[in-house]
Amino acid sequence: MEIFLPDKYYKNIYEINYRQLKQDGIKCLLFDLDNTLVPPHINKPNKKIRDLFDNLKELDFKVIIMSNSGKKRLTPFKDELIVDCSASSMKPLKKKFLKVLKEYKFDVSETAIIGDQLLTDIFGGNRAGITTILVNPISKKDIMCTKLNRRIEKFIEKKFLKRELFKRGKYYD
Ligand SMILES: [Mg+2]
Repeated sequence: MEIFLPDKYYKNIYEINYRQLKQDGIKCLLFDLDNTLVPPHINKPNKKIRDLFDNLKELDFKVIIMSNSGKKRLTPFKDELIVDCSASSMKPLKKKFLKVLKEYKFDVSETAIIGDQLLTDIFGGNRAGITTILVNPISKKDIMCTKLNRRIEKFIEKKFLKRELFKRGKYYD
């Protein structure tokens, strides 16, 4: 069950303590797209995200958008934010995580995934052995397959709550 438990939990991507991550040796940030950066129906980044990504680059992080969506969905983000992307990443499989680490030459201890889903981002990240950071989903709208995931997620969260491991809205780092 702990394989679904995030290492850190923040309200959103803007609340994350990136300086702390830097101090802890994290050099590469993998961002989920849908409901982490933007709602699923939004096709390009806003200024707030552009500013955040500029800051992260200034802090010398390697930033990569890693999404289960296809290339076409990622292209406007890749172009506007000037970041690398890993499309069709098949989270929670760890295969693509390990491929990205190998390609960019980062160790698992130097990499973190930031995402809104326990069943894909956190589960996959934990399997790969990297730092996992959960944020709340931006919108209540989900694509079809995510809807099922959310129901399973609720079930897992109930189990966590019983064991006092995790509670929605109770952020930790
Ligand atoms: Mg997502």
